Amino acid sequence: MAKISLQQAQERVSELRKQLNKWADAYYAKDAPVVEDNVYDKSYNELVQLENDFPELKSADSITQRVGGEIKSDFSKVEHPIPMLSMGDVFSKEELKEFDKRIQKAIGHPVAYNVELKIDGLSLSLEYQDGNLVRASTRGNGRVGEDVTANARFIKDIPQTLPEKITTEVRGECFMGKEEFARLNAQRDAEGAQIFANPRNAAAGSLRQLDAKITKKRDLSTFIYTWVNPPQDITSQHQAINEMAKLGFHTNPTGQKLENLDEVFKFIDEYTQKRNSLAYGIDGIVLKVDDLSLQHDLGNTVKVPRWEIAYKFPPEEQETIVRDIVWTV
Ligand code: NAD
Repeated sequence: MAKISLQQAQERVSELRKQLNKWADAYYAKDAPVVEDNVYDKSYNELVQLENDFPELKSADSITQRVGGEIKSDFSKVEHPIPMLSMGDVFSKEELKEFDKRIQKAIGHPVAYNVELKIDGLSLSLEYQDGNLVRASTRGNGRVGEDVTANARFIKDIPQTLPEKITTEVRGECFMGKEEFARLNAQRDAEGAQIFANPRNAAAGSLRQLDAKITKKRDLSTFIYTWVNPPQDITSQHQAINEMAKLGFHTNPTGQKLENLDEVFKFIDEYTQKRNSLAYGIDGIVLKVDDLSLQHDLGNTVKVPRWEIAYKFPPEEQETIVRDIVWTV
């Protein structure tokens, strides 16, 4: 990048923050993005770069230091004592190698990763007391989310009771499959209603409904991937997923514990090919340090865990078609 002065950088940073805040509000609060993700990501990454090049412009209220959007909805609020964070992302295998180097340097030896599909939906927390589902909530701004318990009662693959009377919390992704997305949009089109821009927005717009009967009419699904407070004998991410499946949670069967980046790259190539034939949308591949105690040692930044990263797929050509669609409100 050509050298720019501090003043020029300041102007650009404030322009980018204003723009990104607007886009994030449309995306997170209204479930109605006004630009495609790659456009958002480009501006976001430019802001990150400028904040790195000019550390004096860093600010705690910058969008780069926040999770999600502001909560403005009429849902009851739910606090997340353990924050629901965002995730760092990379766009190339080279950047993944750098991530792996950082991890190895911090830990002092090579590590295995649990590698999972990055499901294109919205995060959901499920809390159980004595084996009964008592609360479901969205990520919101990471510390406070929205209470969507009434809505989650209508999602068929969410267990209302567990086979064991445990008090626990799991987290995962709520999403709408491609078939249901096509059905819903065809129906909305026929009714003259605005159609949803993509399955992620359709899922968010269908879950975040004050009238849960609307959620009931939409076929939402979940993939659960995080056990917030697992029993002590669970020491790895892949084991946590297996055990959550045994408790009746819908987990994604494609995840794999992989020992090195060559295997990870094969997994990425495989799912870059298979991506369009899956019944649900994915926007990348997630690498998670498999060992839970190493995850704990690596910890989090204010925004993302240091022990996981998303490799994002390049935008698909068909995404340009999305511009012709009326973005849903
Ligand atoms: P993110 O959605 O990229 O990644 C974090 C999320 O991934 C987690 O919160 C979780 O919900 C999800 N996830 C899916 N599969 C997972 C798995 N297997 N394991 C763990 N987590 C998994 O991060 P973000 O902070 O929510 O949002 C940033 C993204 O949103 C960017 O891709 C950006 O393009 C997009 N965005 C777009 C616009 C727009 O206007 N188009 C605006 C804001 C954000």
